[in-house]
Amino acid sequence: MKYYSTRDDSLRLTASAAILQGISSEGGLFVPEEFPKIELSELKGLTYPALAAKILGLYLTDYSAEFLAHATETCYGTAFGEEVAKTVKVHEGLYSLELWHGPTCAFKDYALQLMPHLLVEAKRIQKDESRTLILVATSGDTGKAALEGYKNLPGIEIAVFYPESGTSETQRLQMVTQEGNNVHVYAVKGNFDDAQTGVKRVFTNKEFAAELTQKNCHLTSANSINWGRLAPQIVYYFASYLSLVAQGEIKESEPVDFCVPTGNFGDILAGYYAKRMGLPVGRLVCASNSNRILTDFGESGVYDAAREFYKTSSPSMDILVSSNLERLLLHKSQDAQFVAKLMTSLAGEEKKYEIPEELKQSILEDFAFGACDEAACFAKLAETYKSDNYLADPHTAVALEVAATQQGSAPCVVLSTANPYKFSAAVLKALGESAKLSDMANIAALHALTGAAVPTPLAELSHKTARFGETIRPEEILRVARSL
Ligand SMILES: *Cc1c(COP(=O)(O)O)cnc(C)c1O
Repeated sequence: MKYYSTRDDSLRLTASAAILQGISSEGGLFVPEEFPKIELSELKGLTYPALAAKILGLYLTDYSAEFLAHATETCYGTAFGEEVAKTVKVHEGLYSLELWHGPTCAFKDYALQLMPHLLVEAKRIQKDESRTLILVATSGDTGKAALEGYKNLPGIEIAVFYPESGTSETQRLQMVTQEGNNVHVYAVKGNFDDAQTGVKRVFTNKEFAAELTQKNCHLTSANSINWGRLAPQIVYYFASYLSLVAQGEIKESEPVDFCVPTGNFGDILAGYYAKRMGLPVGRLVCASNSNRILTDFGESGVYDAAREFYKTSSPSMDILVSSNLERLLLHKSQDAQFVAKLMTSLAGEEKKYEIPEELKQSILEDFAFGACDEAACFAKLAETYKSDNYLADPHTAVALEVAATQQGSAPCVVLSTANPYKFSAAVLKALGESAKLSDMANIAALHALTGAAVPTPLAELSHKTARFGETIRPEEILRVARSL
């Protein structure tokens, strides 16, 4: 299987080259040449690691089967316990795929536990002996999941930059108590955009790039534009479907809808790959919060990023430029030149683009779009807890609400992307309680109220010592990167 760029279809790269490079030089994202087909009968009864090795093997064809078997066993064999891709019934016809039973209690663990192994192996395959420096600007979940995934890996140094007062206290504690001999964590004065802009400036600094080359070192990021982060997410769609068949909830080959709380469009796009590979997926329902740019796009065919940005209680979905939508536009239009034009238009002064009606209709054959505001999210969170005795975090609650408003005839699986204790203050508020002074107190209060189990990694936070405490200005990110 070879890969080309969404903006240049003359390229052909192997999987390891695409993963090592991350983003194509003209700014496009790497996509596979075709969608490999697989029969459900080949997958029945496999353990999650074996399922992952089988599906990834169809895409990562220059990685050996032995390597994939070993890497998937290392990542998924124990870190998620029995609860890997656990799919539970919320009520008749509605299910929750709980993706937060991993080490950092958010779904990003599925990609960021495996991705580091794929990167180290890509360097070996490509005979790249340089040191890899990973810089991550994070609003919370990505930073912690990346730190856990990359800690103690040889030849790799990782630094995470989070906005000083932009994360939940739990998210901050998760990062500053991070263990490992190659990890660095900094608070940055300002908001997430300031941290992200500061990091981007380091990536585009030519002088620094030359210094790194001299030191036999190269920079990379850990966000979801890398194919190595997207591919592992295809697996849990298959696992969830097979689990519903095994539980007797659905008949084999019966279509199922998946409703996904969406930010960068990576998670839901993985569902599209699963569908194209042959999984009986009905509609992929894209759920947004008050930042409803994707919903407006689905309705009008206009992607317009020149709009107000809202900070919500589902911060991982507070995003205006959903990078992975570019991959869908390529697959649907099959025209890299056209996609390049759209992206130039989005990056230009108008910050928008429009797609032809035909293309919009083609997208709507597979996708539905919906959004809900903060009040509807909180109301749904409370209602689901009271009526179904199911406790959801605010991201999942957005998807539950959109799944209800966009309900079709097929059973629906909502992707539950974070454990509710990660956002205890918001969950308490949604349940009509007041938030306490610290997140540790919020976790205790939420536990007293609901009795839901507190995940061990979060319960242990109060006993851990902070290893990192430095706050820097965005301009200082370069100085910090130089020192690593
Ligand atoms: C990252 C994240 C999302 C959004 O996922 P995308 O792949 O960016 O669409 C949703 N919920 C949570 C909790 C997340 O951490």
